[in-house]
Amino acid sequence: MSNSFQEEIASMKDWLVEIRRTIHMHPELMFEEVETAKLVSAWLEKFGLEVKTGWAKTGVVGLLPGGKKGKTVAIRADMDALPLEEATQLPYASKIKGKMHACGHDAHVTILLGVAKFFSSIREQVKGNIKWIFQPAEEGGGGGRVMVEEGVLENPKVDAIFGAHVFPDLPMGKVGIHEREGLAATDRFRIKILGKGGHGAYPHLSKDPILAAGHLITQIHSIVSRNINPLDRAVLSIGKVNGGTAFNIIPDEVELWGTVRSLSPRVRERLKVRLEQTTQGVARSFDMDYQYEFEDGYPALINDPPMSHLVAAACAQGIGKENVEFINPSMGGEDFAYYLQKVPGSFFRLGCRNEKKGIIHSFHSSLFNIDEDVLPFGVEMFVRIIDQYLELKLI
Ligand SMILES: [Zn+2]
Ligand SMILES: [Zn+2]
Repeated sequence: MSNSFQEEIASMKDWLVEIRRTIHMHPELMFEEVETAKLVSAWLEKFGLEVKTGWAKTGVVGLLPGGKKGKTVAIRADMDALPLEEATQLPYASKIKGKMHACGHDAHVTILLGVAKFFSSIREQVKGNIKWIFQPAEEGGGGGRVMVEEGVLENPKVDAIFGAHVFPDLPMGKVGIHEREGLAATDRFRIKILGKGGHGAYPHLSKDPILAAGHLITQIHSIVSRNINPLDRAVLSIGKVNGGTAFNIIPDEVELWGTVRSLSPRVRERLKVRLEQTTQGVARSFDMDYQYEFEDGYPALINDPPMSHLVAAACAQGIGKENVEFINPSMGGEDFAYYLQKVPGSFFRLGCRNEKKGIIHSFHSSLFNIDEDVLPFGVEMFVRIIDQYLELKLI
């Protein structure tokens, strides 16, 4: 990349920081990203893109038809914040009680606006089309799924898609890439053990669902260790146990809620089946009934390996191979998975940790923050990726 290219992006820094802080101060929860969407569409219109709003309620899509014919590449940002109280005490901390951009989606929106600013200034040199997807509700609402169902990958048809997440596990200046599996399927289960209540002094007259639940909890934890190939990856956690009202009453039922995560459809199905079989077996051994509900969450996020290598090569060209790492998948989830079910692409990580500046806190922490150098850095990485994918040879 010529120096002037990088300088132009570096000179955007103050503008990017201002946008990020504006969004950061005004976080909006899933499907309520009204003001954020207004800010996004105002900038996209200013840059002269074709803008369509109202996708998945609050989503915004911008299109830059290039000066010459070519492929269509899409990039995506999520816009939603989280329901927690910010504790950073930064001058630009959230002004909205109980809401915070604690996952860095404010940075994702800002970076994509920077990319829009950059390419709109050289649109005649763009061969093909660039589509910007700003989606609502990544944090559990599946905004990405709705956008895909509404046809965001059509008209013009998207040939490849890229997305990134700021990543506090990697230092600022590094890019992390998942070659294939990136994030897990995030399924949930609810189990009810149906016993028969009674007096704690006469357990033989009741059916104690608390004892059964105790057995079930330990049995369930053998599924990953005994039924899943150790070379596959899976995790199961019970997050809620609910039952009983007093020290001397055996309750009628106990409820367990949990999450189960996997990186392939085969493992996902196996977990689903074994969970029910185990529940049935334990309930039967205590002469009880049960209810079992398995709810599909986001599917596993599967990158297209050639696209991941394209990202690696494009980023390495700017920051050196030593700053591009292939990293393990995470058992977290991402609704970018829905786009990747339809078109090839890659979801990668932008390091945003900076120990010296005290930026060390994890996603979804009330102390989460990013090193704002990641804003121009992220713009540069996306510009390089698009340049390489569309073969613009601007670099
Ligand atoms: Zn998050
Ligand atoms: Zn996130």
